[in-house]
Amino acid sequence: MTSVNRNLLNVLAVFAVLAFAVACACPGIRDGGERKTKSDRDEVSRDYDEDRDEDEGESDDGDFVVEHTELRNSKFAALDRSFRENKVLEKAADKLNRSLKLPHDITLLTKDCGEINAFYNPREKSITFCYELMDYFFRLYRLDGDNVDEANRRMNKAMTFVFLHEVGHALIDGYELPITGNEEDAADRCSAFICIEELGEPGVEAIEAAAEGFAIESKLTGSKKRNMADEHLLQEQRFFNSLCMIYGSDPAKYRHFRTKNLLPAARANRCPSEYAKMSKSWENLLEPWRKD
Ligand SMILES: [Zn+2]
Repeated sequence: MTSVNRNLLNVLAVFAVLAFAVACACPGIRDGGERKTKSDRDEVSRDYDEDRDEDEGESDDGDFVVEHTELRNSKFAALDRSFRENKVLEKAADKLNRSLKLPHDITLLTKDCGEINAFYNPREKSITFCYELMDYFFRLYRLDGDNVDEANRRMNKAMTFVFLHEVGHALIDGYELPITGNEEDAADRCSAFICIEELGEPGVEAIEAAAEGFAIESKLTGSKKRNMADEHLLQEQRFFNSLCMIYGSDPAKYRHFRTKNLLPAARANRCPSEYAKMSKSWENLLEPWRKD
C-alpha cells in the first residue's frame, strides 16, 4: 500500500468519530432500540403527528438520507469503498433521525468533489463532504509537525466540528431559523453549541482541533490570501471565537486559556455572557424540532 493510500484509509476514522458525534449530538436519542427502517419511522411519525397537540412542536416530515455517487478520482477509491461497506453515513443519518424532526429530507454525501470543500446546498437540500477536505486537514496537521497518527487524530476531531457546521446550515435553512447576523458565524456557533452541550469533552476537543486548523492555515497562508469580502470570518477570528465559546462555557475549567494568554483578557472577560446568550438562543431555536 502506498503512503498516500495508507493516509487516506486512516482518514476513515473521521466518520467513526462523526457517527459518535452524531450519536451524542442531540438530546432525546433513544438508546437500545433496534434500528427502524424508513417506513417504520414514517409510521411512527404519522402516529405522532396525529396525536400531537398544537403546542407540542413541529411535525416530522423528512429524514437525513444517504446518497452514493460515482467516484471520479481513483486516489480516493479505497476511502469511498470503505464508506459504503461500513455504512458510515447511514449510521450517522440514523442517529440524527432519531434525534431531530425535519421538514424535508436532507441528503448526506461523501465524494471526490475536485475541490477542498464541505458545503450545504439549499436548492438540493444536501450536505456534501469532499474527500479532498479530509485530505487537506490531514496535510495541515502534518505540516504542523504531527506524525501520521497524530495528524489523523486531530483531523478526525476537526471534521466533527466541520460536519456539525454544515448541519447548522441545513437546520438554519430547513427550520427557517431567524438568523439576523452572518450565517457562517451562526453555523460555527451552532457547531460549538452542539459540541459543548451535547458531546462534552470530545466535543471540546473537536472545537480545539478545528481552531488549531484555522490557526495553522492562517500561519501558512499569511496575509496574502486573506479575502476580506468572503462571508466566512477570517481564520484568526474563527480561532478566537472558538476558544471564547469553550472558555465561556466553563471559565474555571478552561482558565488556562487565559493564564497562558491563548485568549486575551479583554475578550475572555466577555466570553461567559457571550456563550450564555449564544447557547440559550440555540437551545430555544432547536427546541420545537427535538424528538423526545
Ligand atoms: Zn459554512
